[in-house]
Amino acid sequence: MAEPDIPCDLCGLRLVDARLTHETFLVAPGEKGIGPQRHQRMFEGECPEHGHRFAAFPSEGHSTLLASRLAKHFTNAERKALRATLPDEERKTFQAALGGQYAWDDEDVVRWRRSLGEPPSAA
Ligand SMILES: [Zn+2]
Repeated sequence: MAEPDIPCDLCGLRLVDARLTHETFLVAPGEKGIGPQRHQRMFEGECPEHGHRFAAFPSEGHSTLLASRLAKHFTNAERKALRATLPDEERKTFQAALGGQYAWDDEDVVRWRRSLGEPPSAA
């Protein structure tokens, strides 16, 4: 993966060895669901002038960490099956979660896993 292009917060020089340390996902109480959720990424790296720096960056409403963590819960085949079987609203939520635009939690995963075990077409 290419090094992210993160400028020093003091001088704007590009940080060397910049890496993502964590993401903060902010969901306002009562607003859990698809919609504008804010999150930011924290990077650290070495500025040639200022040494070790931390830099926070607001994101474009997309969380790579959340998306890749969810991807570990479901195989490609399972994701395909879910897209085919979930009701519209649930599919949108699932897709948004995979895209990092929805702050999913364990309950969501349990529900989706349950959907996999119960195809709606089963008589
Ligand atoms: Zn600097």
